[in-house]
Amino acid sequence: MNQIKYCKTTPITDPIASYNSAINERPSNDNNISGNRKKRSIGEHTKYWQVGKTLKILVFSYNEESFEAIKKGASKWLPYVNLKFDFIEMDEEDIYQSDQFLGDIRVDFQPYMNGSGGSRIGTDTITGNPQASSMTLGTDFSSPRYEYAVTHEFGHALGLLHEHQHPETEVPWDLDKTYTYYASLGFSRTEVDHNVLPLERIPGRTYAPYDRHSIMHYEVSNDITTGDWHQAENHQISQGDIAFMRRTYPES
Ligand SMILES: [Zn+2]
Repeated sequence: MNQIKYCKTTPITDPIASYNSAINERPSNDNNISGNRKKRSIGEHTKYWQVGKTLKILVFSYNEESFEAIKKGASKWLPYVNLKFDFIEMDEEDIYQSDQFLGDIRVDFQPYMNGSGGSRIGTDTITGNPQASSMTLGTDFSSPRYEYAVTHEFGHALGLLHEHQHPETEVPWDLDKTYTYYASLGFSRTEVDHNVLPLERIPGRTYAPYDRHSIMHYEVSNDITTGDWHQAENHQISQGDIAFMRRTYPES
């Protein structure tokens, strides 16, 4: 029996704040900046951090294992990005006494998230309520999947989208079966559209080639594809992920 639940990224509720946050952080997040398109459409921007930045990562205190588990999973990206991570651990009560963003990325833990995770994308983390977590992970720290779950969620926090949603995805989804399967895992149709099915290609945005081995790719069962197509869950950062991150956060 497959107990795996899947990551859900947090949809933006305020597109203007999302746009402003991304452009203030790194002007090239505006994909239209060098184009001559007449109409700028919000939502087409990327959400990458400024190259060379030290990201402050606030981890809510949970138990003796939680802080180390986050540091370990997140740090898997460090060899491939020109970013630094500054990890701090704080008690919830202290976090709630501040009305400032105490971390660019804010991680809390919920047992109901065991086997899955959720995160906002890139600079969306510094919009909205500063006390709210931007990433939620489970509390099954001894699970062999835990480190992978952390690394995958930090991929989102560094601005990556789901690879199976690449505009040139090769996944031959059987739509009816896909909606039914994910409904059984608690996904609404909107959440399937938002987290599973292909996204439109955005003009002006740079894409790497589709990479079925990306750590940002879901496991895909043959049962929900047409023909004969499946992909196991990728627990390691792929060569494609490395190439993309090196291009997005290059050494100066
Ligand atoms: Zn995800």
